Amino acid sequence: MSFIDRHLGPRSADAEQMLKALGYDSLGALMDDAVPPQIRLHGELDLPDPLTEQDALAKIAEYAAENKVYTQMIGEGYYDAVTPAVLRRNILENPGFYTSYTPYQAEISQGRLEALLNFQNVVMELTGLDIANASLLDEASAVAEAVVMMHRANRKVKNGFFAIDSRCLPQVLAVVRGRAELLDIPFVVTDFSEGLPEGDLYGVVLAYPASDGEIRDIEPLVKAAKERNALVTVDADLLALTLLKSPGELGADIAVGNTQRFGLPFFFGGPHAAYMAVHKGMERTMPGRLVGVSQDSAGKPSYRLSLQTREQHIRREKATSNICTAQALLAIVAGAYAMYHGPEGLRAIAERLHTNAARVATALESAGYGIAYEHFFDTVVIDAPARADELVAKALEAGINIRRINENRVGISVGESHDDRVLERLVKAFGAELPSEADAKFSIPANLLRTDEYMKHPVFHKYRSETEMMRYLRHLSDKDLALDRTMIPLGSCTMKLNAAAEMEPISWPEFANIHPLAPADQAQGWHKLIKELSDWLVAITGYDVVSLQPNSGATGEYGGLRAIRAYHEANGDHERDTVLIPLSAHGTNAASAALAGLKVAGVATASDGSIDVDDLKAKIEKYGDKIAGIMITYPSTHGVFEPQVSEVCELVHAAGGQVYLDGANLNAQMGFAQPGKFGGDISHLNLHKTFSIPHGGGGPGVGPLAAREHLAKYLPGDAATADAEGKLPSGAALPIAQAFFGSAGVLPISWMYIAMSGAEGLKKSSEYAVLNANYVAKKLNDKFPVLYTGNANLVGHECILDIRELTDRSHVTAEDVCKRLMDFGFHAPTLAFPVPGTLMMEPTESESKEELDRFIEAMETIYGEILEVAEGKVAVEDSVLRNAPHTVDVVSADEWDRPYSRTQAAFPVPSLRANKYFTPVGRIDGAGGDRHFVCECPPMEAFDLEAHAE
Ligand SMILES: *Cc1c(COP(=O)(O)O)cnc(C)c1O
Repeated sequence: MSFIDRHLGPRSADAEQMLKALGYDSLGALMDDAVPPQIRLHGELDLPDPLTEQDALAKIAEYAAENKVYTQMIGEGYYDAVTPAVLRRNILENPGFYTSYTPYQAEISQGRLEALLNFQNVVMELTGLDIANASLLDEASAVAEAVVMMHRANRKVKNGFFAIDSRCLPQVLAVVRGRAELLDIPFVVTDFSEGLPEGDLYGVVLAYPASDGEIRDIEPLVKAAKERNALVTVDADLLALTLLKSPGELGADIAVGNTQRFGLPFFFGGPHAAYMAVHKGMERTMPGRLVGVSQDSAGKPSYRLSLQTREQHIRREKATSNICTAQALLAIVAGAYAMYHGPEGLRAIAERLHTNAARVATALESAGYGIAYEHFFDTVVIDAPARADELVAKALEAGINIRRINENRVGISVGESHDDRVLERLVKAFGAELPSEADAKFSIPANLLRTDEYMKHPVFHKYRSETEMMRYLRHLSDKDLALDRTMIPLGSCTMKLNAAAEMEPISWPEFANIHPLAPADQAQGWHKLIKELSDWLVAITGYDVVSLQPNSGATGEYGGLRAIRAYHEANGDHERDTVLIPLSAHGTNAASAALAGLKVAGVATASDGSIDVDDLKAKIEKYGDKIAGIMITYPSTHGVFEPQVSEVCELVHAAGGQVYLDGANLNAQMGFAQPGKFGGDISHLNLHKTFSIPHGGGGPGVGPLAAREHLAKYLPGDAATADAEGKLPSGAALPIAQAFFGSAGVLPISWMYIAMSGAEGLKKSSEYAVLNANYVAKKLNDKFPVLYTGNANLVGHECILDIRELTDRSHVTAEDVCKRLMDFGFHAPTLAFPVPGTLMMEPTESESKEELDRFIEAMETIYGEILEVAEGKVAVEDSVLRNAPHTVDVVSADEWDRPYSRTQAAFPVPSLRANKYFTPVGRIDGAGGDRHFVCECPPMEAFDLEAHAE
């Protein structure tokens, strides 16, 4: 059987039946009606023939073999770390974790929420700050977020500037520079050797340790900043913080950095989880997701996303950030790594790294080399005037990559896997002898060491044996619904199959163990794979160029809008600062526009859900030469192929604007329409939707930009080419992520998907996505009217089920329906986006007819339950809907006083007797959790079940 036959859910006999139900005799005829002729692609996509699983794996293994795995001692933001196999196999390679969605539906996400809360607590403990979020995209963008956040949060110094440490990583400086320049926030880059700069300083960023390895005493700088009412961000190495005084103890307001070295491979630059921690009072302005502790209906402690959870959809351009997808899966690994080692284990690793670095420094010093800094953690810098290239070459001969800082200096970063054999090989290359630990000189001054105890909570002490860790991870994933148990019909999110063969190559050492700054000849396989994938995305989208840098869809939006702005600037159109965004757009659109320094003007939606062309014309009239462009989603966020999209593009082009087509929903278009051909100038795609990268419970993601030629030179540049101030060579646009290929490590997944699908297979994916969505829409339309349809009453790849009329009659809400679906073992559709009071469902092509029918049966049963309430037979508060989901505790309690039976509660359809999922908690009080925000791991006693039995 071909790959695509495995990828698709319905068998061909099923497809025939489904088509019949829709009144079509072929998929071709269905697509002819669904996709408007104005945008329809004629001819086939220019892609190679599909490969079998085996052949695709053999081909990608050839690329892997072209990468050369050297010992990585470059450092510079990426450090050698050991991934414990128990974490790799049971988290990174476990569909129970990697196929789950962002935990908006908290009751079916308690496992990953607990894992993320553990991550937050590790970060809080090590940084000495009160609150940490559940990851940011990378270290560089985390510093950029901190800079913008300090700007927003500092009420004492308004309209001032910030000062950033020139000893931050060059990629950090480059990304921060890009953000600040677009928002017109003034800044200076300084090494602070003369203290703080004069003037209205609103914020300071300090590197700790400095990116060239030195540990400085930053306490006086923090103090001085505080005296001037400036906020302080410390860009800190989390592992170094197991030894060094914490940013919190030093008086910092914010700490940010990378957690890659907590058990994650290099992945050729990403994905890795960055972190941010703040002190109390700043949590409401913090970007990213925040897990907090609340209570369920029985008073049991329960986890949920808190505060700004859906804020982009609510606050849009006023949102604190545009981050939607972050790095959840990687954060879960980093948190589990910390739990597996515990505080004493982490400290032992850090001490060993330091001692080994000291041995290397001692060896090189006795061989006559100059050691630049006496105080360092894991990175030794050698002063070798005009000899840096020679030293790099010597190390290379010994199979080791080290960092060339400039022509006079090299850096050597000692990693977790580097044992005495590696260290001996290194020092020998420089003609030196490795001393024993006792003979090592160099130490960290006592006044810089931390003396407080950290990670005291029992969760950081329980899972030392592999058996215990394996079972804990199983326990967590058992609490959750991921794609390995049920369809996840989330509209706009495209939760399709993440095939095992697609996933396999990402943990191969030839891909995973390549440092992003390794010499190019060691990464030939990576470059070939990336080039081929880029070419394929060009072929699919009809654009001219692709940048794989954005590590999420929202980052792509930011990069794309920035390109549009730069294009206008280059044409002398400085006043084009307004972007038109339909009110139905994904919330990240508006938030990204704000981040790109653009103003947002809303465009109304017509009664049929399409863009209101009259209002668009009025807005074009009103804003005229101020129009930078428009952002539209296609098919629209209402799940409809709008025939007038070409007209919309033409109107905006005629007004001098550029068209940003949000391509997160490319799924229904592959092989049928190309945004680069029907009017788009630039788009981002979401490889973690359409191209099979799993969601990982909220990241990783890849949001590549595809653009037409005239925007090519404004696509993000390579941070690796930045100078010491973070400036890029002239003509290059500043980067938006720290690694040139963003989340390179997961690109093999999309490569495999396309290689195994070919043009024909991608087309089939589109056809079946449209077939499945229309089948469900048709079957449920009588009971839950489909809000918007296009030509021939068809939807695209998703549909909005309108609950509002039922809600009016019964007071049963769309949220009640979502929670009740959990009793049937289903993940809810998208709630309240893009239309409040509705559910948007997207089955994807990977779901079988059987699974769709199971969903339809559940929805029909729920409909019957709503009618009972509407007809006054049951009060809504007492109904099985409002009391959903039902836990084992509730159903098995000795007392039962509800107006429905236990069977109706837990087994509303007979098939559940054979396969039943119980949510571990009942409905969670969201508002209460926000009012009393708590993000510490609850004490163990809180989980004493007896205390919470009803
Ligand atoms: C998912 C999505 C985004 C945001 O993508 P992230 O990777 O989560 O940042 C933007 N637009 C649309 C239409 C989407 O569906």
